[in-house]
Amino acid sequence: MYNINDIRNDFPILSRNVYDKPLVYLDNAATTQKPLCVLDAMREEYLNVNANVHRGVHWMSQQATELHEQARETVRQFIHAAKTTEIVFTRGTTEGINLVASSFAEDFMKEGDEVIVTVMEHHSDIVPWQLQARRKGIVLKVIPMSDDGVLDLEAYQQLFTEKTKIVCATQVSNVLGTINPVKEIVRIAHEHGVPCLVDGAQSAPHFKVDVQDMDCDFFVFSGHKMYGPTGIGILYGKEDWLDKLPPYQGGGEMIDHVSFEHTTFERPPLKFEAGTPDYIASHGLAVAIDYMNKLGLEQIEAHERELTRYAMEQLSQIDGMKIYGPKEHHDAVVSFNVGNIHHMDMGTLLDRLGIAVRTGHHCAQPLMDRLGILGTVRASFALYNTKEEIDALVAGVKRVSKMF
Ligand code: PMP
Repeated sequence: MYNINDIRNDFPILSRNVYDKPLVYLDNAATTQKPLCVLDAMREEYLNVNANVHRGVHWMSQQATELHEQARETVRQFIHAAKTTEIVFTRGTTEGINLVASSFAEDFMKEGDEVIVTVMEHHSDIVPWQLQARRKGIVLKVIPMSDDGVLDLEAYQQLFTEKTKIVCATQVSNVLGTINPVKEIVRIAHEHGVPCLVDGAQSAPHFKVDVQDMDCDFFVFSGHKMYGPTGIGILYGKEDWLDKLPPYQGGGEMIDHVSFEHTTFERPPLKFEAGTPDYIASHGLAVAIDYMNKLGLEQIEAHERELTRYAMEQLSQIDGMKIYGPKEHHDAVVSFNVGNIHHMDMGTLLDRLGIAVRTGHHCAQPLMDRLGILGTVRASFALYNTKEEIDALVAGVKRVSKMF
């Protein structure tokens, strides 16, 4: 049963006041709040079984290792990967993409080779490739979109040349809320014989992801955007690719044998997990996934879709309102501007009413250029938000609009 009052009680921070007003937290695309069960599990582990993983023969190390490896299995099931060895723990989406960009470009790209990205990528799926472009002389090509934020798949097909080596696309835009047809994007990439990386930072928190059905070669997401702790994320990679890619960082845990003359590496996933992992956070993430599973991904999705529909309907009735992104296939993010009111002014004044939204370019400046704007106000929803909070947002936006 989806009982919103019970759910909100799991997140005590939601009942706090800011500026003597009840907090209305609508910045979930940036990071979500954490339920008590996640905080308790992490405290419990530090209190009772804290020991470094993998290397210890002693009891606590084995317990900690078990929790860490169980977390890998929980993540595997969550995204329906075939094997736990395809699940690499990272610090987050950004690190996952940097890992793939660095290792893939190292062995599979040469000067003049091309990577295709979408115009709505987050900077974390642009800049890592640009760093490789500087290092190796590779070229970025961009899938364009329509004015309402739908990718142009015809144009996408025209971008392929014999130099195309990889395609990277976000499953959900963190600005427009567009749900991209990633399965089709992957299929087209494979038709041209190249792999595809899917950025799941804004999809994994909101609906069921199935990496085998999607058939993507890499999938990345962040724990902190789905009720888990900061500092932990996931890179899924097909076994074949993880076997072929060279290591990203060197150090402990990722080696098979080291001598000064020659070092051999562990098999994936350890090959990509140099150093002590955040094993407390991996456990925290697994507890967050259990929490989502208990509520039910379908129920979470239905709840958030209804909030999004309601928010778009209510906001669109405000004079001068411009909502970005498509009307259909729109996930739990609503970006907007009102008349000539600067997004920062709107955000700052909403904050004074206790309403936390994000303003700015949302780490997607090329997308802002495409839209011909400097930034937007962005409200983004999570499983614990309510229609009353959207009413507060709408009333707040109306009140601020009247002041200008
Ligand atoms: N990709 C997308 C689509 C995002 O929304 C974000 C976070 N705003 C990222 C990547 C980066 O995530 P992180 O900062 O957790 O690495």
